Amino acid sequence: MTHFKSLADVANYFNHEDKARTFLEKLRWPDGRIICPICGVRGAYRMGDCKTYKCRDKDCKARFSVTKGTYFENTKLPLAKWFMAIYLVSAHRKGISSCQLARDLNIGQKAAWFVLHRVREMLKDGSGTFLTGLVEIDETYVGGKVANMRKTKRKQITDAGIDNKTPVMGMVQRDGKAKLQVIGKNSFKTVIHQNVKKEAILITDSHTGYQGLVNEYAGHEAVNHSQLEFKRGIYYTNSVEGFFSTFKRGIIGIYHQISPKHLQRYCEEFSYRFNFRKIKDGERFINCFENIQGRLTYKQLIGEGREPKTKGIEFINGE
Ligand SMILES: [Zn+2]
Repeated sequence: MTHFKSLADVANYFNHEDKARTFLEKLRWPDGRIICPICGVRGAYRMGDCKTYKCRDKDCKARFSVTKGTYFENTKLPLAKWFMAIYLVSAHRKGISSCQLARDLNIGQKAAWFVLHRVREMLKDGSGTFLTGLVEIDETYVGGKVANMRKTKRKQITDAGIDNKTPVMGMVQRDGKAKLQVIGKNSFKTVIHQNVKKEAILITDSHTGYQGLVNEYAGHEAVNHSQLEFKRGIYYTNSVEGFFSTFKRGIIGIYHQISPKHLQRYCEEFSYRFNFRKIKDGERFINCFENIQGRLTYKQLIGEGREPKTKGIEFINGE
């Protein structure tokens, strides 16, 4: 596997579309046996043009490209630009806006916006692992100030009856993974049940939404911020607060206004970077692809080889 130390390395290496295709081919089919994304039969033939493959199964005979069934399928953008976008998203601590990405890659802003959402889908933690041990939990509220918006935008939001602040729960396993989840209509408890093992000891603030958890988990320690108690031995919430501060700085500084329906995808992006913060940029970049490979296999199994649907993505102005 090629090692990338910088964005320049990515740009230089993928100077030809063939190299990008070969790179994806090695990631998807490391043993060289090409798997048909339509029927799942191994050992498809490579066609003369080097861009397409043909399924060996007599009933299938599907022709497909290396991007079939991936987030890059049917893209009009050169793969090199996709890869640079992935590098930028995974390396920039606070992420990158669609306007900035559009300028960096010399593409349209809408195209950049669409690329970014697909990259965020790729960064999703599909492992299904639950947090355990000491788990710090906190809630935060995300949303721009209505007063600072243009009049038309403000009217749009008021008319649609959209609550401008969206609650998000942050959960950080001490010396482990972090998760961010939009709370939506769920209770705090439901979100915690979905992400944390019962063997865990929870550390929260004294919000009433956390009451009763002591009966369901191995332990629950509430640090009482209102009485200026921020630390009691090993019981503190500094890790989750640190994670929130990066998240909020990114959301405020880079992304400005985010539609609540897209917020979970931003949560995945920030969790991804947090969870892989200790590895080098180049490794984090490669890791993004390993993630989609696992997801691809799953999608191929359940999705009958159709393009994985990126849920709810549509073009809107801005973020
Ligand atoms: Zn096939």
